[in-house]
Amino acid sequence: MSAEVKQSEPTERGSAHLVVGLGYGDEGKGKIVHFIGRYADVGMRSQGGKNAGHTIYLRQGELSIPIQGEGLEINTHQIPTTVAYEHTRNLIGPDAWLDPEALVQEMADLKAKGIEITPENLGVSNLASLVLPSHIFEDAAKEENGNGLGSTKAGMAFVARDEALHEDIRASAILVDNAREILWQAAYEGLADCVNWSAFENDVDATNVKRELVAAADKFVAAALAIKPYITETVKEIQDHVDAGKQIVIEGAQGAGLDRRYGKHPHVTSSTTLSAGLIKGAGLSHKDVGLTIGVIKAFPSKVGGGEFPDEITDEEILAVLKGEEGAVDEEKGKTSGRDRQIGWLSIPLLRHYIRMNGVDELALTKLDKVAELAKVTTKFSVVIKYVKNAEGGSQAEMSRIPDNLADLHGYEPVTQEFDVWHEDITGARSFEELPENARGFLKFLEQELGLPIGMVGVGPASDEIIVRPELLERLKESRLQGVPESSA
Ligand code: GDP
Repeated sequence: MSAEVKQSEPTERGSAHLVVGLGYGDEGKGKIVHFIGRYADVGMRSQGGKNAGHTIYLRQGELSIPIQGEGLEINTHQIPTTVAYEHTRNLIGPDAWLDPEALVQEMADLKAKGIEITPENLGVSNLASLVLPSHIFEDAAKEENGNGLGSTKAGMAFVARDEALHEDIRASAILVDNAREILWQAAYEGLADCVNWSAFENDVDATNVKRELVAAADKFVAAALAIKPYITETVKEIQDHVDAGKQIVIEGAQGAGLDRRYGKHPHVTSSTTLSAGLIKGAGLSHKDVGLTIGVIKAFPSKVGGGEFPDEITDEEILAVLKGEEGAVDEEKGKTSGRDRQIGWLSIPLLRHYIRMNGVDELALTKLDKVAELAKVTTKFSVVIKYVKNAEGGSQAEMSRIPDNLADLHGYEPVTQEFDVWHEDITGARSFEELPENARGFLKFLEQELGLPIGMVGVGPASDEIIVRPELLERLKESRLQGVPESSA
């Protein structure tokens, strides 16, 4: 009668590891994904779009990429960071908004750095929604009119709007016979709708504008057709990879603090940045998930405006944490070039986002920057709760984050102080090599957050990382392909 039904094993885990940001983006996810990528067969981006940017800094001798000078900075936006490896298949999933022009540029930029992108190592979902020139135009216009919320002007909110209206154009349109006409029409009409034609005093002005729109639509179509060989059924493909037990790493864009529902509205991004968003955006289910790794930066930073209760105001401390101008790890939006607000870690906020993401292991980046604080201070802080003076002289206390983050308004952060350390930790490759104060800080975080810290970033370069031996074993065990053991 029916085929044999396999009983589900409650403890069975899939093989798609998720890397999510537990801050406001820029936590250093790129570096963590790059490390896991050593042992992965597939890397994927499944939400957000070119508004995200990941950076890895490779040093001489790493991979087969030729590196001149001290090191090579590689920036990815739509393409998964794992593309730097020769052994990975890389996928852009259905919920990642696809900007063809930016993708073509990103491919060229990566090629200039020695990384070839071909349909063999990159696949783009046929279900992805296309970012049209009009989306970018509308986004920029909103920001420039002073009505914006600090967007990266990448058109994300506008492609999301069209998606909600079911009016988005999917990448599958690139594959049809009359793709050129469909795409051109969508690009031209989208832009034409943004123009207030009645405001033109003469036909010459209107004709000139039309000419610009035609050029923009032509450019868009050329880029969209150029990526045709990459468009594929990534959902089937990723499911097959999971079913075959391949090790996959899905790289989150932005962070929990910017999630469109659970971040601090309205200063949020347009996608679901939590693990649920990564899974759904890939076409997978929670049963396919292996490890969920939550990335924390030793001091969270944020771009895009809005209240930031844990913000650091001490100029000397800020100057150290921001880093030197032009440095690879300078605190500046990688995609937008905007300055970042910087704050102390908040235990209540981290607990909140750990719970929502179902985090198994933590990765803490930029621990080396805390050592640099020794130049200007002897202490650094972590927020442990929030308090507010209530009527009658009593104090209201908040140790759990309210559903609506706006309800934190008026509360002041209460911090616990930690001693800085003076030792340079960039050479440390094991927890034992860290100074006592640094270990004490990590222990405190593990206890307060109830999770192991499996990885610690101790410098900007990709090899400046400490990995807990148990986590390393787990990654090695489940690898099918990956780099040869000798170079891993
Ligand atoms: P993402 O948006 O979370 O992917 O953040 P990125 O991967 O772009 O990282 C932001 C910056 O932090 C990059 O320039 C990295 O080189 C840098 N970075 C990552 N980890 C560390 C670390 O442990 N120490 C230092 N100093 N810089 C780091």
